[in-house]
Formats: sequence, C-alpha cells, structure tokens
Amino acid sequence: MGEAVAETVGERFRELYGADAEGVWAAPGRVNLIGEHTDYNDGFVMPFALPHQAVAAVSRRDDGILRLHSADVAAGPVELRVADLAPGSDTSWTAYPSGVVWALREAGHELTGADVHLASTVPSGAGLSSSAALEVVVALALNDLYSLGLRGWQLARLCQRAENVYVGAPVGIMDQTASACCEAGHALFLDTRDLSQRQIPLDLAAEGMRLLVVDTRVKHSHSEGEYGKRRAGCEKGAALLGVDALRDVPYAGLDAALERLGDEEEVRRLVRHVVTEDERVERVVSLLESGDTRATGPVLVEGHASLRDDFRISCPELDLVVDTALDSGALGARMTGGGFGGSAIVLVEAGDVDAVTKAVEDAFAAAGLKTPRVFEAVPSAGARRLV
Ligand code: ADP
Ligand code: MG
Repeated sequence: MGEAVAETVGERFRELYGADAEGVWAAPGRVNLIGEHTDYNDGFVMPFALPHQAVAAVSRRDDGILRLHSADVAAGPVELRVADLAPGSDTSWTAYPSGVVWALREAGHELTGADVHLASTVPSGAGLSSSAALEVVVALALNDLYSLGLRGWQLARLCQRAENVYVGAPVGIMDQTASACCEAGHALFLDTRDLSQRQIPLDLAAEGMRLLVVDTRVKHSHSEGEYGKRRAGCEKGAALLGVDALRDVPYAGLDAALERLGDEEEVRRLVRHVVTEDERVERVVSLLESGDTRATGPVLVEGHASLRDDFRISCPELDLVVDTALDSGALGARMTGGGFGGSAIVLVEAGDVDAVTKAVEDAFAAAGLKTPRVFEAVPSAGARRLV
C-alpha cells in the first residue's frame, strides 16, 4: 500500500512542479488507547499509530521559496518566502507545514526552501491527529533532505512548537510523538515529561479481539475554549498543590491532595481525573505486559467515566457510542482525543464487531444523528521514508 500511494503522490508532485520529488515520506494519525489530557500535565499516554497517514513528496529549493500543495484542498500551490514566515501570519492549512519550517529555522537549522505536495487519509478534525501527521511528515522529509540528524522525539518537540506558537493551538506533545515514534504492532507508552518511551506489543487480532474507532462526525464549536479552560484549571491545581505539574501528585496521595484543595470544586475534579488517569495508563501497561488484555476493557470504561464526570469533556454523541457499545457486548469503550465530539474507541471480541457496529449505527439513527464512521484500528507504522 505504501508504494502505490507514494507513486500517486510522486506523480502529482511532478505535474505540479515539473520535476521528480527527491523523496516521499509518510506520517500517521493516531488513536489514544488511554491517557487523556495527561500530556500537558507531564503525565503518561499510550497512543498507537493508525494506518491512515499523511504522505508528502518533497524536494529542496535553494532560493528561499517554500511551495505547499495539498491534494485535499482545492487550490493551486501556495508560495511563501521562508525568511518571511512568522507566527500568526497564516490562518489556513499551510500554517501546519510552514510552521514546521519556521520551527526548524528558529532552532538554528538552515533551510533554503522546499517544494511540497501532500495527501492525507487521516480524517480531519475527528480527533485522530490529522494536524500532527501533516507536521511530522514535513519535518521528517526536511530532516532527511537537509541531513539535520534529528531523532523522532526531537522532531515531535519542534512540531509541537510549530503548532503551539505558529498555528496558535496549545496542544500537548502526545500527537506529534505518536506520529513520529510509534511502531507497527505496538502501542507507545510515553512519559510526556522526558519523552522516555516503551513500545508495548499490541496484537489484538492474535488474541481474538478488535479495536474499533467510532468517529461521531460531530465537533462541538466550544471545544477549543474548553480545552484552554481545562489546561488553566490543571495549572491552577498544580500551583495550589505546590507541584510543577499534576504528574507529581502521587496516586497514593490523591485523597490528601483533594482535601488540601478544599472548596475548589472544579479544580478538585480536574486533579482527580489527571491523577487517576495516569494510574490507569500504568494499569493498562501492566495488564498488556502480563497478557491480560481483556481486563483492560473495564479500565477504558473507568477512563470514560472520569472524562465525562470529572473532566467534563464528553458529549451526548460520545456517551451514546460508549453506552451502546457496552450494552451490546463490548469489552470496553471510551472517548478518545480532546473531547466534545470526535472519536471513541471500542474494544470488542472479534465475533462481536458486526453486532456492536450495528447497534451503534442504529442508536445514532434513532437519535437522528449522522451515521458515524466506524473502522478497525490496527497499530501501524510511525513516520518513515517511503521512497
Ligand atoms: P485533528 O488534528 O484532530 O484532525 P485539527 O483541528 O488539529 O484536527 O487539525 C485539522 C486541520 O489540519 C484542518 O483544519 C486543516 O487545516 C489541516 N489538515 C488536515 N489534513 C489536511 C490535508 N489533507 N490537507 C490540508 N490540510 C489538512
Ligand atoms: Mg490536531
């Protein structure tokens, strides 16, 4: 599959720019198994890469020009001057790739321009990190072409900086690290404080299970403001408790910490989610490593309840997926990603895939909602050069 896609993207590059690309790279979207809203609290996450990916054909230029084109945007190439790139100057899709060029230059890397054509199969705005896939594929291509010698986690940090500062989205480090560092057949157990990581084998099919992603195809408009409020609330919690980040509140000391927060009701809820979620990630890791995969189901369900009741970022559509899936026999289910829409994940026995899928689709139809998009997620390769 990688090869066919590389050929199509390479051909289009030739049509657009009149010469062969120097190479073709791919970077995937991701789904997060467990560890939600922990990545800006220095905590733990466990994403894996999707088979859906952004693919980019790229060549260097030596005249300071950056040309960007997406197969998924109906317009010709956008031409920018590398020297003129500045945060806040671009509000279109090109801010993601040009933000990466800006971040690399800010970090002292000499880039003299590039031609880029990309195409992506990561659904946009579905909580599956289409934005990180775009950033990482461009970062990896430039890293290779300009021989920058940066490691995956270093590219991830630069991509996060591009998204935080250049695009202006205050995202954590999970998405970019997942896209850059995941491996096929594995989930990535990542400590977002120091980016230390462990690849956790995850072959659900071999154990007779499947992981479904259910994209609700809804995105509630207040999601960005709410994200900012949760971040601010977490920071307030850390400050009140006198720690650098909520990661530093030990699970064993949670009750005492909550007590210290007194009548700060909202902060208490946020702290409780983050501290228990970190513990859930560690629990899922040990269950997977001891071969007790089915027992992760209830942990996912606990995670959903915590996001819904304590962090308060679920929505009726995500709750409907989770409740319906569990009622129709799923082993576990939870919302994944930022919340207020986007996607949920469902862990099911292989034999129950059709029944659970139909139950969720029927429930959406009965509620008068758009048909959700349901697909199986197999842990796939992280960012890499295809050609
Ligand atoms: P998510 O990362 O969850 O998919 P974001 O809002 O962070 O959602 O990123 C989506 C944005 O990324 C889109 O609005 C668009 O600007 C950009 N994007 C994603 N995929 C593509 C693509 N194939 N071509 C151009 N821009 C894209
Ligand atoms: Mg994104």
